[in-house]
Amino acid sequence: MDEFDIIERYFAPLAGEGAFGLKDDAAVIAARPGFDLVVTTDAISEGTDFFAFDPADTIAQKALRVNLSDLAAKGAEPFAYLLNLSLPHSIAPDWLAAFAEGLGRDQREFGISLLGGDTGATDGPLTIAVTAFGYVPQGKMIRRAGARVGDAVYVTGSIGEAGGGLAIFKRERHGLSDVERDQLTARYRVPEPPVSFAAHLREIAHAAVDVSDGLIADLGHIASASGVRIVVEGEQVPLSACLRALWGDQALLRAVTAGDDYQIAFTAPPGLEGPFTRIGRVENGEGVSLKIGGREIPIPQPGYRHF
Ligand code: ADP
Ligand code: MG
Repeated sequence: MDEFDIIERYFAPLAGEGAFGLKDDAAVIAARPGFDLVVTTDAISEGTDFFAFDPADTIAQKALRVNLSDLAAKGAEPFAYLLNLSLPHSIAPDWLAAFAEGLGRDQREFGISLLGGDTGATDGPLTIAVTAFGYVPQGKMIRRAGARVGDAVYVTGSIGEAGGGLAIFKRERHGLSDVERDQLTARYRVPEPPVSFAAHLREIAHAAVDVSDGLIADLGHIASASGVRIVVEGEQVPLSACLRALWGDQALLRAVTAGDDYQIAFTAPPGLEGPFTRIGRVENGEGVSLKIGGREIPIPQPGYRHF
């Protein structure tokens, strides 16, 4: 197989409107009057963001979803993506077939299609870079800057499950049942970003960020961009029963500093209800603090860092 066979066989069937069946040098995105095009990119690498033994279809889903969470956090609805692959020389047809099948499944789930990309071989780790495109009504993209003193802080979903799954893959000892273990490892392999929540989010949020490096670290981005202080009330942070079973007393501290959640943290007026949990408040000052029973808990390492 050369790269043109790979593109023709596995990726051309995923091509969307404007992609010319992946047979041209570039694709066309038709302008949509009254909307802004929102663009984001994120890459995942073997050994850093997924394991060599992960199924190819879940690797594909993760590559897409880590981008869809960025769009969702900005209040944008996704419609297309580009796919940049650095593949080992020895890549197997079965792997590519499963990978393309995972892409196709998520294309149907999220209503997106493939517009193009690049395919090359590497001696380094398998790396998948996706660039995703979404639309928001003009001027409506939610920024990290925008949190106001008096806002409440909310988060979608639950926090730390993917981090728990990663810990299990790294052979941390645990007493979980197989079902509990699988719940956590599945969340690490396939994040569940709240994509369909984007349209509602942009009506209510003053500031938002996707939680990828750790809740405390990512809230720190809102705090610094907005020039405010964020107080997280530890008791309110949503933790699953599985995660509590895994980490016991340490669950909260580890969950709020683990990455890979791909949920959305945002600030908005207090008193709102929806598919999210209130976890804190915005005050005057700077930084993020975690409080339990009103007492501040020191956080040595607020999130994942590459360097
Ligand atoms: P170039 O000659 O500019 O290097 P390529 O031969 O890399 O172009 O790509 C040919 C076509 O195939 C382009 O439309 C490109 O977008 C598409 N393509 C290449 N790799 C991928 C991929 N991994 N996923 C989707 N489309 C791809
Ligand atoms: Mg070309």
